[in-house]
Amino acid sequence: MSRRLAAACLCAALVAVALLEAQAPRFNVLLITLDTVRADHLGSYGYALAATPTLDRLSREGVRFADATTQAPLTGPAHAALLTGVYPGRLGIRDNGATPLPRGAATLASVLQKAGYQTGAFVGAFILGAPYGFDQGFDEFDARFDRFDARNKLAAERTADQVVTPALQWLGRVRRDRPFFAWVHFYDAHAPYTPPPPFNARFQKQPYDGEIAYVDSAVGKLVLKIEALGALDRTLVVAIADHGESLGEHGEPDHGVFLYDSVLHIPWIMRLPGHERAGTVVREQVRAVDLMPTVLDAIGVAAVPRLDGESVLGVVKGRPRANPPLSYAETWYPKFHFGWSELRSARVGEWKLVDAPRPELFDLRTDRSEAFNVVQRQAGVAGRLQADLRAVADGLGAAGTAPSAPPDRETIERLRSLGYVGFVAPSGSATRGADPKDMVPKLREFRHLVEDALKALERGEVTAAATKLQQAAAINERAYDVHLALGDVYLQQRLFDKAVGEYEAAGLLNPVSAAPSVSAALALMEMGRFDETGKKLDQAAAVEPLSPEVAATKGRLAERQGRSGDALVQYQAAVNLNPSYAQARVWLANTAMRQGRFDVAGTQFAALLALGYQPARSHYGLGLVAEGKGDRATASKEYSLALQLDPKLGAAREALDRLAKQRSTGR
Ligand SMILES: [Zn+2]
Repeated sequence: MSRRLAAACLCAALVAVALLEAQAPRFNVLLITLDTVRADHLGSYGYALAATPTLDRLSREGVRFADATTQAPLTGPAHAALLTGVYPGRLGIRDNGATPLPRGAATLASVLQKAGYQTGAFVGAFILGAPYGFDQGFDEFDARFDRFDARNKLAAERTADQVVTPALQWLGRVRRDRPFFAWVHFYDAHAPYTPPPPFNARFQKQPYDGEIAYVDSAVGKLVLKIEALGALDRTLVVAIADHGESLGEHGEPDHGVFLYDSVLHIPWIMRLPGHERAGTVVREQVRAVDLMPTVLDAIGVAAVPRLDGESVLGVVKGRPRANPPLSYAETWYPKFHFGWSELRSARVGEWKLVDAPRPELFDLRTDRSEAFNVVQRQAGVAGRLQADLRAVADGLGAAGTAPSAPPDRETIERLRSLGYVGFVAPSGSATRGADPKDMVPKLREFRHLVEDALKALERGEVTAAATKLQQAAAINERAYDVHLALGDVYLQQRLFDKAVGEYEAAGLLNPVSAAPSVSAALALMEMGRFDETGKKLDQAAAVEPLSPEVAATKGRLAERQGRSGDALVQYQAAVNLNPSYAQARVWLANTAMRQGRFDVAGTQFAALLALGYQPARSHYGLGLVAEGKGDRATASKEYSLALQLDPKLGAAREALDRLAKQRSTGR
């Protein structure tokens, strides 16, 4: 072939490819994750008391999976399954606000971003934030939390309205010539159930349903927006829950401890582009890990290899599978938070095995409420499921689940002096801990004590809080959260050695959270033991490499050791990882001021003002920045603003006097 002919062929081929691309339908994707929403509390799943018109409409115009189950009853691990198609245990994600999604993980967002999608995420809970790796693959990641408090970060959340507003704005400004992927997460149905008006009045007796109705109204705003853009029939709309809610079933008020269907059974509704297959109900078992491969299949983006999930689009199109794969789930929450046994389950649609110290087998065809354990009567079925379950569990790896290294002599002494004998006794590696279902009565009493302690803390009654927590620890000395809280109380009381002991206990119980090491570092720093502080922070960083608290505490250590350049770098890292972390912004601003880095400080004070954090002090800070730059007019204006907001802010008054004096002396 002549060179000219070859070039002509190549040109023709390129034109053909370009035409194909132009013609190929590039469908948008709207993924809505409904936190803590039980399938059987939606209208389309047969709940008579529901007020879920938009989700019901999506079911009518789309596909409803009647038997979808999640892989974990916790927000972080369950979302990891949804967004990666991989069992969360394989990624080492076994608790909320702990081990992050590894950098470089193939997430739905990162795959679609590489495929040319515009990507935006709008999340309602901090535990799905950047420090836990959920920002990967998003051009826009909106996770701003007012009044964020690092000491209570796992509770940081925002309402459906606060989530949907930036999502609607983003949808309004995405380019029309490229498809978009939006992930919108609503946390409202999570306890406590406090729906806003008018849902609070309408659902006085069923506030949980009121929260779901409120979320549905927010979903409605998203669907209407896409409709108004004329894009609904070019958009795959998916609504799916991360897990359900026990609502008192099996003795559990919320979720996390057990693996019954009250938390594993989830709604999954999917409106296909062009509302194809409208009204289809799929009865075959599908799983949270199937979501990502199914979405990619439905929009014609190449599949990701080596996933635990698989596309169920064929099932949607009327091709049932001969042997639908089993749905594996696990929960390490009882282990990491109470020192009880972890649980695993295997479900094949009609049978479900819960692997616990006392295993349970349920026949879901006749016993959907999982009330009758038939593990003895159906030993053959139980044995087969147990083998299948082990095959999955053993393939996941041990990330975070291997027993902690035995404590050293100093730690043992400290724990003994605090009265914790159970830690000191050698524990066999085969012991799984108590069966959670045997601990239900204790769980109630225990929760009351912890709630009372937290209320006492809110009232500033530190000693009363310590007493309640000590009582809780006496009921169950393997309760991680109690040790962490007790450590914080001792830290407030400046009983540093006792605080370190409590944090050591917490760290031994929960190896996937950096919190005990970060807290121990703070106590050690107060004691002036800087080398040990640094070691604790390194341990914390190994567990949670993206933790803003680790970075900020490294900054504080650097400051204490006079390494102000390092402090600046660490504070900046903390702020980058969590833009809502106001305290870290304050530390960064103050350090920058001391170094004469006025631009850095100015950016931080402005950001603090935008967060609504101590506005008078932030204006005062902006005044100092302006004065440092020699801009006396702006400085004077900012100091005056600060004084207007807080007439008692003496520093601002002094600064104004100083400026006035300088003017009168002509300096
Ligand atoms: Zn959740």
